[in-house]
Amino acid sequence: MKDKINRVNEYLHNGDVIIYDRMFMLISSIALFFVYIASFYIMAMVHFLFGLKTFFVASFFVFMIVIGYKKRRLYISAFVICLVLMLFSMPSIFLVSGGIQGPAMILYTIATLYVALVLPGASRKIVVTLEFLIMGGLVYFDFWRCGGSAGALPTRTFVEAYIYTMIACGMIAVLAGFQSRLFTEENEESKRRGAENERLVASQNQFFSSMSHEIRTPINTIIGLNEMILRENVSDEVAEDAANIQSASKLLLSLINDILDMSKFESGQMRLTEADYHPGDMLSEVVGMLWLRAKDKGLEFHVNVAPDIPSVLYGDEVRIKQILINVLNNAIKYTKEGTVTLSIQCGEREGNRQHIVYSVTDTGMGIKKEDIPYLFTAFKRVDETANRHIEGTGLGLAVVKQFVELMNGQITVNSVYTKGSTFIIDIPQKVDSDAVIGEVELENKHRLNQRPQYHQKFEAPQAKVLVVDDNASNLLVVKKLLRDTKVQLDTAESGAEALQKTINNTYHVILMDHLMPEMDGIECRKKILTQPGGRCREAKVVALTANAGSDVQALYAREGFEGYLTKPISGDNLEREVARLPRDLVHATGESEEIAQETIQWMHLNQTKRPVIITTESVADLPAAIIEKYGILVIPHMVKTEDGVFDDGSEIETNGLLSYMEDKEKKVSTISPSVARHEAFFADALTKANNVIHISISSKVEHSGCIAAKEAAASFENVSVIDTGHLSSGQGILVIEACMMAEEGLPPQEIVEKTNALIPRVKTSFIVDNLDFLARAGQGPMRAAQFLKAFAVHPMLRMQKGNLRVGKVYMGSRDRSWSRYIGDCLKHRDIIDKKLLFVTYVGVTKKEQDEIIEKIKLYMEFDEIYFQKASPAIAVNCGPGTFGLLYKIK
Ligand code: ADP
Repeated sequence: MKDKINRVNEYLHNGDVIIYDRMFMLISSIALFFVYIASFYIMAMVHFLFGLKTFFVASFFVFMIVIGYKKRRLYISAFVICLVLMLFSMPSIFLVSGGIQGPAMILYTIATLYVALVLPGASRKIVVTLEFLIMGGLVYFDFWRCGGSAGALPTRTFVEAYIYTMIACGMIAVLAGFQSRLFTEENEESKRRGAENERLVASQNQFFSSMSHEIRTPINTIIGLNEMILRENVSDEVAEDAANIQSASKLLLSLINDILDMSKFESGQMRLTEADYHPGDMLSEVVGMLWLRAKDKGLEFHVNVAPDIPSVLYGDEVRIKQILINVLNNAIKYTKEGTVTLSIQCGEREGNRQHIVYSVTDTGMGIKKEDIPYLFTAFKRVDETANRHIEGTGLGLAVVKQFVELMNGQITVNSVYTKGSTFIIDIPQKVDSDAVIGEVELENKHRLNQRPQYHQKFEAPQAKVLVVDDNASNLLVVKKLLRDTKVQLDTAESGAEALQKTINNTYHVILMDHLMPEMDGIECRKKILTQPGGRCREAKVVALTANAGSDVQALYAREGFEGYLTKPISGDNLEREVARLPRDLVHATGESEEIAQETIQWMHLNQTKRPVIITTESVADLPAAIIEKYGILVIPHMVKTEDGVFDDGSEIETNGLLSYMEDKEKKVSTISPSVARHEAFFADALTKANNVIHISISSKVEHSGCIAAKEAAASFENVSVIDTGHLSSGQGILVIEACMMAEEGLPPQEIVEKTNALIPRVKTSFIVDNLDFLARAGQGPMRAAQFLKAFAVHPMLRMQKGNLRVGKVYMGSRDRSWSRYIGDCLKHRDIIDKKLLFVTYVGVTKKEQDEIIEKIKLYMEFDEIYFQKASPAIAVNCGPGTFGLLYKIK
């Protein structure tokens, strides 16, 4: 009911629906409500037949409204209702309620108001003209009925009644019509302005993003070439100048990033890119970046991480890093001596959301009380006299606040002027596992690190690398930064030139700029890998980009790039990407053990990227040992209870859920992962493998994740989704088969084809105690479920052409039904593949499991039998006392 009221409310406030339709719905509903009451009153107290007629006319109006709404033709319904009103209802009221002496003349004015509000333009004029003509006829009839000029009422009374009512009705029609027209015109004007505004914002955004791109390109050159100076053995003075150039360029870069972020916030286009991340790694990176800056200023830098912080969180890691870096950077900037401390603690817990509280304390110059309200205003720097020698733009905290609020968090400041400040940032994050971070020692780890000095890490004189960029300075920077690695470097200034060069030469690694005129990097990569006669089909292609958004990783993973580098490119990152070379071409250089170790790690990183990874859903009910053995990635389904939404398996456990569901009033349902969550999942999988084969639950079952998976996969080049037509361990068996094929080294396309061919050979069925749970989950009629239960009937559910159907029913005791179900499954033992049997169950005790084994053994022996507890999402639909035999036939 509440839902329906909300929907009506939404409709009435929807600016895209024309005002006449909205008025028609609103006024008609209210009017009809009173007409129904009136019809009962008339039936009981005045005139039964007339009351009944009124009732039928009101019902006819309701019918017209419903039809008009469903067919999206409300204006026709409105026109018909107004015609019936004026041609039939009003004359009837006039005639039975005493003509001009009854209430009819007043009701005419109300009816005219209704017509004027619900009918636009010409239709309104037609109905009102008809109304005047009929009203004239009726008044004349009444005059004649009352005895004409010889009657009790003078002729003048009739003429005046008619003329005054006509004037009132005419004015109402004109005024209400005028008002509705005015509203429509203004509505259209505001829509037009809105669209224009959107266009303007889009072009402003386009301007900012191309400006950012254009400015990044020269900064890339400055920072890159400057890094070369810093690598050289130059005098202290030159080194100091180069260091100043470095810091000024970085400030310029951060300014551009902040401006770009602010413009995105202002146009409402800032979006978070959320995925699982490890807060430990994230903090280590942040501390690693800022530790040196604090040390250079002679400040102490302390980090306290509470051991109960979850080890995996779900959120936008890049933006959280950006927030922390900004606030820590300020703490270091505005502190002359003393300490900067970063503390991280767990705050409140709301269902599966954990508030993480970051606090940054410094012993710096502090902030005056009266300045605190302006801290987060863009381009506003406070206490400018004291700050005048400190570089800044006044944008950092404005951006921080916007991000914190976008994440539904809060930022607060406590400060004592001249003594120091504490910024507290509280951000709720989704928790993905129960594991906690434990004791971490970020401080000491970084204390040991000295100023990063350039170490040449490897040499690869046999390796061939191609750099494609339309900007000559960028080519120069890459060339110089890679000089010491001795790789054979070739350059191309356009996509066309790159295509030419990759026909004549074989390159191991190609560094490809994204935005180039004519042919962009994405298109160029595709062509290089497919062009006839091309010699670089095996090349690793790494994107070079001037985009700094948090969605770039997903973008390049989707497009099939091996990796990406954001400009300005640092020498270290560039070498890391180029180290994707075949192992035998790379030789570690230098004496240092550490360097050799690091190089080996790089190569390992390169080699652990598998050709194919098999992914599936938590509802595939696979044993943890198999998931680990094959390195399967699993995306969780979710279970929605009255206490929140939980990830299947990791946050909610089958037995706990079953006892929760013992309370029959509790509503529990399942939700499959969204398209966005699938996209993030695939992007992550693509960092581990070059191809992803996702094995999905039947697309035909309720709440299947298959459709969302397919939609997400469509935007990736090398993600295939297999609709298994099965669920639970039946789907799991197909996952295992695909994993074995991947292990054998079959190419992705062949794995997909062979797995598809296996689908009809997998048998998925369950015997359930009753259909209560299925009916409760909305997958069957409750009455039928209760009926079957009353007669101790145990249904067998079987996958048929992707749908879960009642295959058979067993009457009698549970024990007998189970035996007969097992017998039915295993009677054709000759055709069953005896390698593997899954007995997937919900709420079956250990003793019952032993009995099941005994019964199975009466028919045949399997090499391996897995008893697998079904995931909570499956349990929701089956209830306790369910198990299934899932296997493959030969
Ligand atoms: P800026 O680029 O100027 O640092 P921010 O938006 O980051 O811009 O900060 C706005 C102002 O807030 C700064 O100009 C500075 O006056 C004040 N401020 C920020 N952090 C601190 C801090 N830790 N201690 C003292 N003042 C601070």
